[in-house]
Amino acid sequence: MKIICIGRNYAEHAKELGNEIPKNPVIFMKPDTAVLKKGSDFYIPEFSNDIHYELEVVLKISKGGKYIQAENADKYYDEIGLGIDFTARDLQSKLKEKGLPWELAKGFDGSAVLSEFYKKENFDLKNLSFSLIKNKEKVQDGNTSMMLFSPEKIIEFVSQYFTLRVGDLIFTGTPKGVGKVEEHDILEAFLDDKKLFDLRIQ
Ligand code: MG
Repeated sequence: MKIICIGRNYAEHAKELGNEIPKNPVIFMKPDTAVLKKGSDFYIPEFSNDIHYELEVVLKISKGGKYIQAENADKYYDEIGLGIDFTARDLQSKLKEKGLPWELAKGFDGSAVLSEFYKKENFDLKNLSFSLIKNKEKVQDGNTSMMLFSPEKIIEFVSQYFTLRVGDLIFTGTPKGVGKVEEHDILEAFLDDKKLFDLRIQ
C-alpha cells in the first residue's frame, strides 16, 4: 500500500504558506509506516517544534490501473474518508529552502491519521464540507468544491507516473487554516456534520 499526497490543492492554503498556485498537482508520498494506529494518541516527534495539522479528504483506490483517464477515474476509487497529513513545518521549511525532498517532514511515523472509510456514493464529492475542531474551536473549514484538482484529475495525473493498486490512499490536499499542535490538544474531524474521529496530542 502506498500513500500519495497532493500539496497546494486549495488556493487559499497555498497562499497562507506563501506558495504559488500550481499548474500541476504537487505530489509527495508517505510510507505505509506513517499510518497512526487506530485509537492511538499522536506523539509530537522530538525532531520538530512546529508540527502542523492538515485535514484532508482521502480516497481509497479500489481498482488497479495506470494511465487512467479523468473521465474513467471514478471507477478506480469507491471509498472516501478523512485524514490528517501531519507536517513538521519547521523541517519542511528548511528542506524547501535547500530544494530538498519533503519526505522527512511529511512521512514520519504517525504522520498519517485516517478515519474509517465510507462508500463514496453516500456523498456529493463535488460539494462536500469537512472541518477540523481544535480544543472546541473550528480551525479548518473546507469544501471539496474549492479543490484546484478534482479527485479524477489527481488520479489521471498520478497514474501517469505510478501504477495504482487496490488499497492505495490519496490525500487530496488541505484547505486553509493549518496550524500548530501542542501537547494535550484535542482534534476532532468532521465530514459534513458527522464526527469521524478525535485525536489527542501528546
Ligand atoms: Mg497536506
